[in-house]
Amino acid sequence: MRDIQMVDLRAQYDRIGPEIDSAIKSVLESTAFIKGPEVKLFEEELQKYMGVRHVISCANGTDALQLAIMALGLKPGDEVITTNFTFIATVEVVALLGLKLVLVDPEPGTFNISVDAVRRALSPKTKAIVPVHLFGQCADMEKIMAIAKEHDLFVIEDAAQATGADYIFSDGSVKKAGTIGHIGTTSFFPSKNLGCYGDGGALYTNNEILAMKLRSIANHGMKERYHYSDIGVNSRLDTLQAAILRVKLKYLSGFNAARKNAAEFYDEAFAGCLSLILPERAAYSTHIFHQYTLRVRNGKRDELKKYLESLKIPAMIYYPGPLHLQEAYRKPGYDETDFPVTTALCKEVLSLPMHPEMEQEQLDFITSSIIKFFDKTA
Ligand SMILES: *Cc1c(COP(=O)(O)O)cnc(C)c1O
Repeated sequence: MRDIQMVDLRAQYDRIGPEIDSAIKSVLESTAFIKGPEVKLFEEELQKYMGVRHVISCANGTDALQLAIMALGLKPGDEVITTNFTFIATVEVVALLGLKLVLVDPEPGTFNISVDAVRRALSPKTKAIVPVHLFGQCADMEKIMAIAKEHDLFVIEDAAQATGADYIFSDGSVKKAGTIGHIGTTSFFPSKNLGCYGDGGALYTNNEILAMKLRSIANHGMKERYHYSDIGVNSRLDTLQAAILRVKLKYLSGFNAARKNAAEFYDEAFAGCLSLILPERAAYSTHIFHQYTLRVRNGKRDELKKYLESLKIPAMIYYPGPLHLQEAYRKPGYDETDFPVTTALCKEVLSLPMHPEMEQEQLDFITSSIIKFFDKTA
């Protein structure tokens, strides 16, 4: 059995190495490292895969969020509602641009932003909602878009963990995560479902004017050569990463299907284990399992994690602390009793190894070890 990894990028490279090598070599030979033809080709291919009008590539998923807020013209003091249970990048850009961060609890089952909590957090100053499609499953976009429409708000979807997940509307129509709100953002960080070999990111929109604005802001605010209509930034996907992503995009559906199979194996193996709460599947979304995240009951999470470590089974806590208690984000009025769902999840969640190259032998070892742990400790 191979050593078990949370994400096994080496095993993946062993599968697709020759194609990756030749893609890299062709960029090296062209020396078009910035704005090479591969960048535009990748944007076109991703646009087709996503079923969206515009894809704008950029340097990383955090930049993508920042560009989205800048393009929507949000101003210091405007309120942005987002989930307290997410990766720091989601809230960082809101704070960085001087907007007022309004955190709300997620749903305990799906880990995604609670629609009722969003409703309760609305104020006359609310300008945008940022749902995060956490761990590979969509937030409840239909309801969020209805709130946005009613109150004239923008919706920025943070789809960094959900490239390829489908949202299923109540009329049966389907859209890809990230293509439903005014702007969607994603990351190609190596461990994401569609990851490159460095940093990368992209934005999605169906709005032509927003697309032009995003392109301009990502490129120093340039309208035409050396004419600057916006204050912009320098945020580009480089050609090498685009070439790598073109290869990996072809495999994405297969990779996501392999993750789903592994998740189903975990589900079945743990079905009778009363100490574990399995990741809930929402009826309105497919799940591409960026993470397979359990909730461990009875305060046993840390003990289980240590036991797994002793067997060389990695497991991670995403996320260990609520954002409102982080030193940089603490503010008067928030304390340990706020956000009860986030606080409980931070003590219970444990993500198991999850990637497209999981071997059956590894899955058997992980699941039987966890079941053995609870047989002993129950
Ligand atoms: C990874 C991630 C990001 C940031 O992406 P980078 O490319 O690392 O900047 C933002 N939001 C979420 C939810 C993420 O998981």
